[in-house]
Amino acid sequence: MLFVRAVKAGTMGSSLMRATGARPISAMQETDNPFSEAFGKAVDLGNRIADTDDKADIWDIADGLLAGAVQYWLYSRQPCSDPECEECQPISTAQGRIEELRKLMRQFAEESEYFHSPTDRNVGRA
Ligand SMILES: [Zn+2]
Repeated sequence: MLFVRAVKAGTMGSSLMRATGARPISAMQETDNPFSEAFGKAVDLGNRIADTDDKADIWDIADGLLAGAVQYWLYSRQPCSDPECEECQPISTAQGRIEELRKLMRQFAEESEYFHSPTDRNVGRA
């Protein structure tokens, strides 16, 4: 990449670099909720890798987490053997799966507390 990454792991105190798994919907935070557990543990894993290797680039860690998440998601969305199955219809082709994945990515991004950043280039230029 041609640009310099503004913030790398190790250039700030790691406590400042820690992502949190906090979600705005408190019902999602029950420990017996597999969604909440997977979400929280993925964020914890990223923080743990960053803490263990202070030379690690958090962009690389995040890309690896995302690649693993996509891998698991695609594994989970293999259509069943019934060609008439309505539940599997949206994910019954590779193109359908990528569309579903895009929708979810957008939704999760928009729900994230990190979606908007105070350092966004379109902030505070009134
Ligand atoms: Zn099915």
